[in-house]
Amino acid sequence: MNVKCKKCKYEWDTNSKMIMVSCPSCGYKITIREINGGNKK
Ligand SMILES: [Zn+2]
Repeated sequence: MNVKCKKCKYEWDTNSKMIMVSCPSCGYKITIREINGGNKK
C-alpha cells in the first residue's frame, strides 16, 4: 500500500503489517491501519 507522510509529504510503498510505520525520510510515525481489537468486518 502507498503511504504518505503528513509531515514531510514523502510518499512510499509499504507492505508492513504493523499498525504504524516510520517515515523513511523524517522518522514521523504514521498510522496505516485502524486499531481494531475485535474481528468484525
Ligand atoms: Zn516524513
